[in-house]
Amino acid sequence: MASHRIDGAGPGAVKRKATGEMAEWIPDDEHKTFMVVVAHPDDLEFSSAGTVARWVQRGMNAILVQVTSGDRGSPDPNMTPECLTEIREQEQREAAAILGIQEVVFLREPDGQTDNSYRFRGRIVHEIRRFKPDIVITHDPWRPYALHPDHRNVGITTTDAIYPTARDAIYFPEHYHEEGLEPWKVAELLFFGPEHPDCFVDVSSTFDKKLEALRRHDSQVGRSQDLEKRLRERLEEIGKQADLPMAESFRRLTMRR
Ligand SMILES: [Zn+2]
Repeated sequence: MASHRIDGAGPGAVKRKATGEMAEWIPDDEHKTFMVVVAHPDDLEFSSAGTVARWVQRGMNAILVQVTSGDRGSPDPNMTPECLTEIREQEQREAAAILGIQEVVFLREPDGQTDNSYRFRGRIVHEIRRFKPDIVITHDPWRPYALHPDHRNVGITTTDAIYPTARDAIYFPEHYHEEGLEPWKVAELLFFGPEHPDCFVDVSSTFDKKLEALRRHDSQVGRSQDLEKRLRERLEEIGKQADLPMAESFRRLTMRR
């Protein structure tokens, strides 16, 4: 619909410092719920756990939609997808609890086999209509040379789910007729891992929670010797772009409601 404007200058506040450099982006006070849609357990923690913890501390409700349970993510040839699903979902629940995430939804799509089908889009639309998030955070599907198919597919399908599908009642009308779920307009879409970020969140006060949450993913980071050092260096490097001590960065699209 032509009335649906997308640009980078919507509500929410960017604190500008005296130097004029872009500093932290803070969600609008009327935005109470945000949803993170990611491909694998630990994707949220690596990309945006500091932001999630910070916004939960602001009093916002956090929902995690976990598309796959990472059931192929092991170097052990004797591991089975069923066993790995159990391990990784438990790790994800523990990590989510540390960050204050209120609800974790496991869609259990098969790891490495996601697509951009209408069927898959409908599943994300369903969660958007169910939880009514003001802000959605997901993978940047346009990041150049992003190698993992699930990262590309979850990013693009979530984008397509928000606009126009979740918004318009005649897509997946059974959501309304069978469950009473109304169409829903998301206000802000944030992509993590962008080539050209325009939105930064100060995570210096929530770094410890991010690290603790990441360490719960023992099946993935258990052998990592210098996790804390690498993480700290990366977040400090991102922070420099916005004159912040440590930051996570995003590309932000604002949609008129
Ligand atoms: Zn991943």
